[in-house]
Amino acid sequence: MADQFKNFIGGEWVAPSTGNYFENRNPAKQSDLIGLFPRSGREDVDRAVAAAKKGFAEWRLTPAPARGDVLRKVGDLLTARKDEIAKAATREMGKTLQETRGDLQEGIDTAYYAGVEGRRLFGKTVPSELRNKWAMSVRRPIGVTGLITPFNFPLAIPTWKMFPALVCGNSVIIKPAEDTPHTVALLVEILEEAGIPAGVVNLVHGLGEEVGAAIVEHPEIPVISFTGSTETGSHIGQVCGRMHKRLSLEMGGKNAQIVMPDADLDLAIDGVLWGAFGTTGQRCTATSRLLLHTDIHDEFVERLIERAKKLKLGYGLEKDVDVGPLIHEASRTKVEEYFEIGKQEATLVLGGERATGEGLDDGFFVQPTIFVDVKPGSRLATEEIFGPVLSVIRFNDLDEAIRINNEVKYGLSSSVYTRDAVASFRAFQDLDNGITYVNAPTIGAEAHLPFGGVKQTGNGHREGGWEVYEFYSETKVCYLDY
Ligand code: NAP
Repeated sequence: MADQFKNFIGGEWVAPSTGNYFENRNPAKQSDLIGLFPRSGREDVDRAVAAAKKGFAEWRLTPAPARGDVLRKVGDLLTARKDEIAKAATREMGKTLQETRGDLQEGIDTAYYAGVEGRRLFGKTVPSELRNKWAMSVRRPIGVTGLITPFNFPLAIPTWKMFPALVCGNSVIIKPAEDTPHTVALLVEILEEAGIPAGVVNLVHGLGEEVGAAIVEHPEIPVISFTGSTETGSHIGQVCGRMHKRLSLEMGGKNAQIVMPDADLDLAIDGVLWGAFGTTGQRCTATSRLLLHTDIHDEFVERLIERAKKLKLGYGLEKDVDVGPLIHEASRTKVEEYFEIGKQEATLVLGGERATGEGLDDGFFVQPTIFVDVKPGSRLATEEIFGPVLSVIRFNDLDEAIRINNEVKYGLSSSVYTRDAVASFRAFQDLDNGITYVNAPTIGAEAHLPFGGVKQTGNGHREGGWEVYEFYSETKVCYLDY
């Protein structure tokens, strides 16, 4: 009999009002049923909002340093249960244990960083134009926040949203991706253990178009933070625009690694292997385009194929693997469609098929895939695939590489491998992305640095860094005449 999980509303674990549940299965082993999770409805969201409003009324009055202390305790508890939580994430999401440990470490760093920010939610004092007048600004909490998260970083992304929202004095309603509800339930369990008061954190499981939509449309949730696909985010943006909600959108990517002829090629090959095939290509920052200078193109491709052929596929809790499965059937179907598109548009040099064999047939595995002769502008080169598919594009000079990098609709991350300081600074200046790495892959984040993208990747807000604390608080200006 599968475990039946609950929502967390008003400080209690409760069954959904609908009485309905959905199955959560291991993407590496479909026969492994992780549990039944609430398929909640609008009534559950209404209950969560009522609880979150009550929670907010008290929590906003708790001094910010004391709110931060709760988050530091969360950091300690997450650290103590790191292995167990990382294993649960690998079981439900499919990426390797090394990767889920990294995912959780980002959450731990975010907890400690949020703890510190509780002690410095600074406002400003500003000289007034007038005599005998004191002017200053302070930061105030906003209210109930609605947080909607994707499956691919089931630990880091919920913490990026929940912890700053909480330290700023808001209450939270979180709806995790339906593919990774268990991991987020464990995070909420830890918040409860750390002493977060009833109603301040509420977890409502369910489907995007049901519970997600109910959160987005709820008139008493003034703040929405969403991470997911550009398609879903654009729809949410329209609803929030009509309702004048504060909205943070973190969406898709089509990230490029550029390799210059003077680069350390070993380092660049390590970078692209990890960036393109780690997390089975299911990172918003995944390296999906590899731009190679014509002078090193052929040698690089040959060496890359040799290394990529050796990547081990499988279930990370059963053996030592490099690449896990895709998250679900629909995702595998989409990636297989791009295999066919790629075979029409470019030249396949590795993979391009479903991965089968011992330990693979019960999961959503596909082969790490490389296409060369990809044309900049083609579907392969411009659309987010969200799988282990790398498109190699040849270029002649840095100007051309920058132009190719910039001609997609997304703008999350980019990377350049070079030993040339001038080329590095040109890249920082001219690549249209929220993040540029030099001599490192297109992936990676640090809790105290802002994370996010430009163009159709985001709407100008950031996760992490001081910037996210601005998103979760209002500035109020106060004048005092004396
Ligand atoms: P998704 O399908 O857009 O889902 C994201 C979340 O939105 C899930 O919780 C989903 O619920 C929910 N949702 C779906 N329809 C909704 C609706 N109508 N109203 C409200 N919520 C709704 O994205 P995903 O497949 O989980 O994640 C992959 C995408 O996320 C990629 O495009 C990736 O680039 C992007 N991403 C971006 C960043 C970034 O920081 N820029 C980071 C990570 C991922 P269900 O799970 O129930 O469908």
